[in-house]
Amino acid sequence: MKVNIFNIQRFSVDDGPGIRTTVFFKGCPLRCKWCHNPESNRAVPELLYVKQKCISCGACAAVCPNAVHTLSQGAEGAPEHLLHREHCTACGACASVCPTKALELCGSMTTIDEIMQVVLSDRIFYETSGGGITLSGGEPLYQPEAALALCQAAKEAGLHVAMETCGFASRAVLLSVIPYVDLFLFDYKAEADTHEALTGVPQAPILTSLALLEEYGASVILRCPIIPSCNDTQTHFDQIAALAKQYTQIKEVHLEPYHPLGISKCEQLGREIEYDNREFADKKALERRAAEIHNRCQKPVKVN
Ligand code: SF4
Ligand code: SF4
Repeated sequence: MKVNIFNIQRFSVDDGPGIRTTVFFKGCPLRCKWCHNPESNRAVPELLYVKQKCISCGACAAVCPNAVHTLSQGAEGAPEHLLHREHCTACGACASVCPTKALELCGSMTTIDEIMQVVLSDRIFYETSGGGITLSGGEPLYQPEAALALCQAAKEAGLHVAMETCGFASRAVLLSVIPYVDLFLFDYKAEADTHEALTGVPQAPILTSLALLEEYGASVILRCPIIPSCNDTQTHFDQIAALAKQYTQIKEVHLEPYHPLGISKCEQLGREIEYDNREFADKKALERRAAEIHNRCQKPVKVN
């Protein structure tokens, strides 16, 4: 069993309790305009290119089988490196010879055993901190068989398992993983009226998934990215409070302030920037929102 992942982050402290290893799955059914990890969107390997690191040495052009890289005469006579991405098959040859790491292949097919080897190397830290493994992404349930296999392997090894999910998955897929997941970090992104325009999918299936987790007694932390001019509305905060009050299985609410780090990743992928806001969110304002939500649902609400 292989899984397409783009990162394994050890010593993570923001993806569930204690010290954790977070495995980032590549591929997601949503297209949130503000996506913090745009390199996770597509379920195939992709080439990242950091123009500022390129010294126009031409090593990539020499090895690429598809003539993706060309060097032309720049404004002052110096060679200028151009990328023709439409021909790239993500073979990785150019990234392996680039002397400045201006090129990087994002995403690789990795076996469950290989992932577990990395994860288990930090077992001592999980045991002393109450941590474990977190499946994140992208969307882990976009590769449902692999997500299930990794959850099962982690449980067999006696680890605490958390899964960050957007909830856009079928009933059968969710039911398959519930027995192996100790904690769902469940994203709640927007009001019903604007959900599809902001994320690319309707809200209803996501609320159905949340209700299913409640029905089966799965523990949930509701994670809410708060994006200026997109979902920082009174109605949205009202709905977060109402959900947290309604569902006993929602143990905490986390408000996730917007950060602009996804923008440079869009540039490295050669993608259009849909939400071009380069300011970090005002955390103080969100602290006030957190207090309001707490007063209404009587559950812990924190700003991450
Ligand atoms: S190998 Fe790297 S540094 Fe050299 S031209 Fe290609 S991208 Fe630029
Ligand atoms: S990943 Fe392969 S096909 Fe794509 S640009 Fe690099 S060498 Fe060419």
